[in-house]
Amino acid sequence: MPYRSPVAEIRFILDQVVPLAPVAATEMFAEATGDTVEAILTEAGRLCDEVMAPLNRNGDLTPARLENGVVRSSPGFKEGYQAIAEGGWVAIAAPQEFGGMGLPQTLCVAVNDLMSGACLSLQLNPLLTQGQIEALEHHASDEIKELYLPKLISGEWSGTMNLTEPQAGSDVGALRTKAEPLGDGTYAVTGQKIFISWGDSDVTANICHLVLARLPDAAPGTKGISLFMVPKFIPDANGNPGVANSLKVVSLEHKMGLHGSPTCVMAFDGATGWMVGEPGKGMAAMFTMMNNARLAVGVQGIGIAEGAYQKALEYAQERVQFAPIIEHADVRRMLAEMKAEVFAARSIALACAVALDMGRATGNDDWAARAALLTPIAKAYGTDIGMWVAEQGVQVHGGMGFIEETGAAQFYRDVRVTAIYEGTNGIQAMDLVGRKMMDQGRAAFRLLQEVEDEAKAARTVLPDLAEDVWAAAETLREATEVLLAQGMQDRFAGAVPYLRAFARVLGAHYHLRAAIAAGADSARAKLAAVYIRRLLPQYAAALAEAREGAEGLYALSVEDLSA
Ligand SMILES: Cc1cc2nc3c(=O)[nH]c(=O)nc-3n(C[C@H](O)[C@H](O)[C@H](O)COP(=O)(O)OP(=O)(O)OC[C@H]3O[C@@H](n4cnc5c(N)ncnc54)[C@H](O)[C@@H]3O)c2cc1C
Repeated sequence: MPYRSPVAEIRFILDQVVPLAPVAATEMFAEATGDTVEAILTEAGRLCDEVMAPLNRNGDLTPARLENGVVRSSPGFKEGYQAIAEGGWVAIAAPQEFGGMGLPQTLCVAVNDLMSGACLSLQLNPLLTQGQIEALEHHASDEIKELYLPKLISGEWSGTMNLTEPQAGSDVGALRTKAEPLGDGTYAVTGQKIFISWGDSDVTANICHLVLARLPDAAPGTKGISLFMVPKFIPDANGNPGVANSLKVVSLEHKMGLHGSPTCVMAFDGATGWMVGEPGKGMAAMFTMMNNARLAVGVQGIGIAEGAYQKALEYAQERVQFAPIIEHADVRRMLAEMKAEVFAARSIALACAVALDMGRATGNDDWAARAALLTPIAKAYGTDIGMWVAEQGVQVHGGMGFIEETGAAQFYRDVRVTAIYEGTNGIQAMDLVGRKMMDQGRAAFRLLQEVEDEAKAARTVLPDLAEDVWAAAETLREATEVLLAQGMQDRFAGAVPYLRAFARVLGAHYHLRAAIAAGADSARAKLAAVYIRRLLPQYAAALAEAREGAEGLYALSVEDLSA
């Protein structure tokens, strides 16, 4: 059975678990009625099932290639991209003023989930454009907005993000690309960027690079970084692609997976660029794009997990070893836990998106703080479970999982990078315990209070499950208090397990909501029991590790590690 977009599942979550209704009740998003949501998800689902999913294998078997300095996409990708653009799917959350649909980010996240499960390599292209649109919307001059936004929103042109250089990965502040003012409002951008996703392709007429670079007298570190729009073709007087800019693709990376997405080494040689935002404020502007992309990458993990789960479920019913393998307890365990993880991660990502929309529509800082808190959790947990579910998917297939033609291995290889790009999951966890706790944990405690209150109220309906969720939230609250009293080095040493514990508690919270909405005897309640009884207890081990701090790690010297 081919991939089927989980439209009904997302509808259920948006109706019952992380309601979209409050978003649709705002003036800004009044158009996001139930009918609109249904129509959007159904249409997007059809595109994913019929157009994108059949391309997934092409990308893996016939990677994008560099030919005479131009990237040629995998077979069918150009037509697939055109179908995405023509359907208006590049930017459903983009402003109507520039041709977007102006719908909530939550719907964009839901559509990205469907698309990621269908064909991750191709989906990465519009994902980057969406982030660029948001960055331009908030930081660019009116002139740049008017020239670029309509073309990006329609999908005629695509966007990239250019941060990474050989010496500047997680430490973006180490970047060396230079931007010299030319005196006419433009800049000459010179430097090398590596790992640039969709840095070139034949699927769009122009490629708009957002490049981080330094002005000649810039301060060292991130404070000295500015942001520039550097198009592949400089727009002519009519706004159409004109002369070629001084930039080129030097080579494409040979990767473990995600072969359909060209990952480019880019050389900018005095390329003409226009500043976006203010001098020295490039990181702040780029962060708009990165925050958008962080949630979107978390959703990539969830989409892949969905695809891997569907494939494993089908195989487990067909494969007979004594009995259909789905009848064996260990296979049943794997499938049940895979499904439970996908639901939990999807609910967290959608909760983050709803908080973003509510923040925008109401101007209420509490919503914005919630979105900021949930972003690193959604990114790291979504991609962690993407990897875990894909790995379990291989295991369910037994030896056939290791054989490429089943496709189980492709999910596993493709999803691996999602825990690395857009800030590694380690960096996400440090963001959670560092910047996102600068409010003394206010946003975290507010969320945990809601989890506890709901769990208390659920005691009459599902006493066992509710009690476990309440106890886990209470322990996480105490652990958060301990964390806030720690120095940064100790916090960072425990950041990854702390984030995982947080995600476990939130996952249990949303499972409990689903169980209550569907009824104590429902399949939802049984799935919630799988999560809460079998997976939630991992929070305790994670918090034990988080509380340990850094000392024990450094007690083991580099020499000890090398012995
Ligand atoms: C397929 C692919 C596509 C990509 N697409 C893009 C793109 O479109 N645009 C773009 O600009 N970049 C892109 N990247 C780059 C990506 O964002 C970086 O690889 C990532 O940010 C990590 O940087 P790095 O590879 O230099 O690893 P490093 O920064 O060297 O990290 C190595 C390890 O050290 C850890 N580490 C580093 N610093 C710290 C710290 N301060 N504290 C704790 N741990 C730390 C990391 O978590 C990691 O585990 C892409 C990468 C890949 C592989």
